[in-house]
Amino acid sequence: MTKSELIHQLENTIENIPDFPKPGIQFKDITPIFLNPKLYEEVIADLADFSRGKVDAVCGIESRGYLFGIAIAVALEVPFVLIRKKGKLPPPFVGEKYDLEYGSAEIEMRTGQIKPGQRILVHDDLLATGGTTEAAAKLVEKQGAKVVQFSFLIGLKDLHGEERLKQFNATVHSILEY
Ligand code: AMP
Repeated sequence: MTKSELIHQLENTIENIPDFPKPGIQFKDITPIFLNPKLYEEVIADLADFSRGKVDAVCGIESRGYLFGIAIAVALEVPFVLIRKKGKLPPPFVGEKYDLEYGSAEIEMRTGQIKPGQRILVHDDLLATGGTTEAAAKLVEKQGAKVVQFSFLIGLKDLHGEERLKQFNATVHSILEY
């Protein structure tokens, strides 16, 4: 499948749900990708090609970041590390707080699963404001590793998430941009 065929198929597969979970938000539902194993394979091939030879581990953000992140890590034969929402992981772990539109949230990662000096890919399904991904990258760098890449299936350009990630001097890849 060519890159433009992949983009075209994804555009026809991902569902746009207006006003979910809140009025004014257009929710991108990626779950129909899993009804088409061939398409899923092509997505993983694209994301794995972006990172091949460039990273020592993949960190995936809960929960849709796991659906592709593990497969990317297996394709690259590197470790996969889970970044979870607060309160899910047993100790020892490290955490990072970040601001939401209303209030704040926190994400956590088991201590020692990534090593100082490692080159890390931070992966999630979708980049919106970049708040979640920024916190994930800070969590990685707190542990002495370096975020060298970010990858997403979808980047929502109008929300300027990429600008927020510039501080990490890492390469950003989204298969689709809206
Ligand atoms: P943000 O921190 O604003 O970049 O939000 C990114 C996280 O929220 C990702 O984990 C996405 O899965 C989820 N998300 C944000 N906006 C949307 C959207 N329009 N459709 C689906 N998921 C979204």
